Amino acid sequence: MNMATKTAKPAGELTLIEQIRKTFPQSGSSIALGIGDDCAILRPPSDREILVTTDFSLENRHFRRDLHPASSVGHRCLARGLSDLAAMGATPLAAFLSLALPNGLTQTSRGQRWISGFLQGIRSLAVRHKAPLAGGDTAGSPADLILADIVLLGTAPTGQSLRRSGAHAGDAIYVTGSLGGAHAELTALLASNRPSKATSQRDHPHFYPQPRLAVGATLLRRKLASAAIDISDGLSTDLTHLCEASRVRAEINAAALPLHPLAARLAPAEALHAALHGGEDYELLFTASATTRMPRSIAGVPITRIGTMHRRARTQPAITILASDGTRSELKPGGWQHLTAR
Ligand code: ADP
Ligand code: MG
Repeated sequence: MNMATKTAKPAGELTLIEQIRKTFPQSGSSIALGIGDDCAILRPPSDREILVTTDFSLENRHFRRDLHPASSVGHRCLARGLSDLAAMGATPLAAFLSLALPNGLTQTSRGQRWISGFLQGIRSLAVRHKAPLAGGDTAGSPADLILADIVLLGTAPTGQSLRRSGAHAGDAIYVTGSLGGAHAELTALLASNRPSKATSQRDHPHFYPQPRLAVGATLLRRKLASAAIDISDGLSTDLTHLCEASRVRAEINAAALPLHPLAARLAPAEALHAALHGGEDYELLFTASATTRMPRSIAGVPITRIGTMHRRARTQPAITILASDGTRSELKPGGWQHLTAR
């Protein structure tokens, strides 16, 4: 469409918005007005403040239309934002979806199937975590590529959100769940180069990662954590962020890393690589004072201690890793590369 000539919305766009409105339950205690007007109206609880995060999901960069199930694309799109909320101990308030679709995608039954699958993928995760879709925007994509941007709003008790900057020397370092599974599953997908049929949400760490909202909220409520971040780019990269923000250094114990079963099947060096640098596990990485009694699991998710924070002199690396043979070496951030960078 010519940018200079603003015309009425194409019928396809209106039908799509109607499809979205019908797919998502238009209720939620904090949604005074959802999809259908010029703005949504939200009523957050008065004693809480609002946290906001936004994430792009771009075809061929974050997902492949020919390899990923459409529901997995939708799921992962929302999971990334939910994981950011989880990392700060926040509770979802509302989600907004901006969608650019290739012209004609809505016109073919194959395209329609893709859109339905994508919306269902968002929906089931949104329902599970009470993150109502309260609006968005829809446009034709300038290229033959699907582009989706999700904005998530959450709330947390005023002044109490978990941050990256609260860790101290002496704090213990923990992770939730297990590491390396998403990387192992993605590597297998790219190696097979065949569309995946993964539709079950269980045990698919790459296709259907589970954001740790209940853990984050519990850490905040019970004041268990001094700092937290979610593992989106890989443990080495995200732990470096936490160390920089808190001005401390980390020493982690390779033997203590909880490997996902899909990673544990790999050769030892590959498994370690997946756990340290793999990315997209969407587990939480957090610290707690050495005197805090940490439960072995929170909300059914195992909690594993992987190391300790120390004072950091200017010349020291952010992370050292203790190998099983007792040797220590620097761990450089080597996290997630997008699909196209491979
Ligand atoms: P406007 O032109 O006034 O911005 P739109 O026609 O774009 O309004 O949107 C109409 C309604 O549909 C709004 O409530 C908007 O939030 C919602 N909406 C549009 N696209 C999406 C989408 N991709 N996901 C969810 N809601 C959407
Ligand atoms: Mg308007």
